[in-house]
Amino acid sequence: MQDTKLFETILGIAKPWSIGRGELTTAEERVDLWLEHEATTWPCPECGTVLPGFDHAAERTWRHLDTCQFQTYVHASIPRVQCPTDGVKQVRVPWAEPRSRFTLLMERLIIDLILQCSTLTGACRIVGISWDEAWGVMARAVARGRAQKTAREIPYLGVDEKAFRKYRQYHTIVSDIEQGTVEYVGAGHGAETLSTFYDGLTPPQRQAIKAVAMDMWDPYIKATRTSLPQGEDCIVFDRFHAMGQLTTAVDRVRKQEHRDLQETTGDSPLKGTKYLWLYSAENLPERHRETFEELRHTHLKVARAWAIKEQARQLWNYRQLAAAKRFFQRWYHWARCSRLRPVAQAAATLHNYRDGVLRYVRHPITNGVAEGLNSKIMSIKRKACGFRNADHFTIAIYFHCGGLELYPR
Ligand SMILES: [Zn+2]
Repeated sequence: MQDTKLFETILGIAKPWSIGRGELTTAEERVDLWLEHEATTWPCPECGTVLPGFDHAAERTWRHLDTCQFQTYVHASIPRVQCPTDGVKQVRVPWAEPRSRFTLLMERLIIDLILQCSTLTGACRIVGISWDEAWGVMARAVARGRAQKTAREIPYLGVDEKAFRKYRQYHTIVSDIEQGTVEYVGAGHGAETLSTFYDGLTPPQRQAIKAVAMDMWDPYIKATRTSLPQGEDCIVFDRFHAMGQLTTAVDRVRKQEHRDLQETTGDSPLKGTKYLWLYSAENLPERHRETFEELRHTHLKVARAWAIKEQARQLWNYRQLAAAKRFFQRWYHWARCSRLRPVAQAAATLHNYRDGVLRYVRHPITNGVAEGLNSKIMSIKRKACGFRNADHFTIAIYFHCGGLELYPR
């Protein structure tokens, strides 16, 4: 093959490297290029000391971008240096990262495809690489991006847990609420998992945290209390989690009342109404409105429970702490005296965690703020069924949601 100069330009090969020979195998639609180098000295990859060549490692092959429809492979024997400090090391080559089986340009293309394709398998099929090779590219991209990441201040954090039934495992996900990026993924949902994240921050980063949105989950509270200088004073309990407790309580009241009515009268007006009580007032579908209006003006216990729940939602509209506190006390009293056990219990929970619930007035953040981020994570989680282990999930989250610089050099 004559056009080695052309390939040198395309590949970005420069002195001391050049293309020694090329081979075109038409039947296999394949181009092979062998790289050579002049006699020269090389910097040690660890310390940079310039050293003479010691010997060569066995020939290696890298897949490059296709040349038209021809798959293109680059071959070379990488020189090794003998460094007095670091021992015998392979030198860095300009066309690929250490340990990669792809050239830099090919690796960039694979990263782009994985980002754009809805499935990893799709990306693999387009370029004709294996699943493991694609994972290698992703894992390297994440490791590279995380290593390059600079310590920036993140005022508003969201902490959330994701459950994996398949692996019987939980993951803790910490996100930057304003930027919509995932900052940390850790296995487990205990205090030590979240503490690991906090402890990895620099002291100024820890100091800069204004608020952390989370569920009313004691291990996360404990980690925040012990690892951050501002302690519990920066915790904001997620309003949707708080309301979720009340919605569950309403459902329990309905279930019990329905059962009681069935037993005593053999007929319950609550039959088939489960979901009507779970909607927020404004989200109730039009077709159910009439039925629901009738039901909620009855003397049913569930109607009362529902009213207490709907009333509670107003708490998150307050912009002044004193007023919010007064409202909460009134509401709490009403709920406690409702003689509806599940409602009273849920109210007691909110009361126990009231400082963090009320802190929403000062820092109106929720874990749901990064909605786009959450749906991205959920879609990765759905696809994670195909992952061989939970580590793959972690890598995929960082890859797609980490806001990292993924490309090689
Ligand atoms: Zn060295």
